[in-house]
Amino acid sequence: GMAANGAVAIVRLGGRAAWCGRVGDEAIGAAILSGLKSEGVDTGWARVVAGEFSPHSIVLCDQDGNRSLIVHRSETMDPSTEWIAQRDITPFAAVHSDTRWPEGSKYLLSAARDRGIPGVLDVDSANDGYDVKPIVALASHTIFSTVGLREMFAIDDLELGLVKASALCRFVAVTMGADGVMWRDKSGSIIRLPAFKVNALETIGAGDIFHGGFALALVEGLSEREALLFASAAAAVKCSRVGGRQGYPLRSDVTALLK
Ligand code: ADP
Repeated sequence: GMAANGAVAIVRLGGRAAWCGRVGDEAIGAAILSGLKSEGVDTGWARVVAGEFSPHSIVLCDQDGNRSLIVHRSETMDPSTEWIAQRDITPFAAVHSDTRWPEGSKYLLSAARDRGIPGVLDVDSANDGYDVKPIVALASHTIFSTVGLREMFAIDDLELGLVKASALCRFVAVTMGADGVMWRDKSGSIIRLPAFKVNALETIGAGDIFHGGFALALVEGLSEREALLFASAAAAVKCSRVGGRQGYPLRSDVTALLK
């Protein structure tokens, strides 16, 4: 899911990250874990479940950079979080989660809340079959994709969506592709930040990098507004490159664009 790519983005941008999730004991699971390890992500929080097939997505991209997703979610994968209940999240400064494993997200976002560290949540589309709102209610920061926000409240109007979402979570934002990001500040005003102008070649992973960059920036002490700017720059660099994770930005790329 998206948080795995977020973890890769965090490491590329100069942070440290561990990935917590479940894979099957087959070739896709092995590829997921070796891919994360080769990027420097700690996989010590991963669980390999015998006899299961790993959740994964296939992303189709057209010549204009638009995407379609084919998502495989395991129906039989054990959702329990007992295997992480004994683990200690004290070494971590933030939790970043998506919605692909709701029980895991709830557990770790609750742990983040208890410790008073940021709990960043990525809400994208295709959450059919379960209610994401209780997960949003546990996060300190929820950043929706455009489709994710529209689906959750069954509305077109993104500003109205943010108003509704802010009843669940203190900080809510929505990414809008080349149109940038919009969020609701403490006073209730809706604020927009345009995207960086780049020659977009491949937008796969833009949201994942945006979220990873945002979480890292919060950990580094930036304000929410500064963190959104940092995240926008990181995502824009990726959009200007092809090649999946190979195109994920380094810190120096982001610093250069921000200058
Ligand atoms: P997702 O990948 O989750 O659908 P978006 O497409 O909304 O997310 O993109 C996330 C962020 O990436 C945007 O808010 C923007 O900052 C950046 N981004 C996406 N597409 C472009 C683009 N064509 N040019 C510049 N930045 C972009």
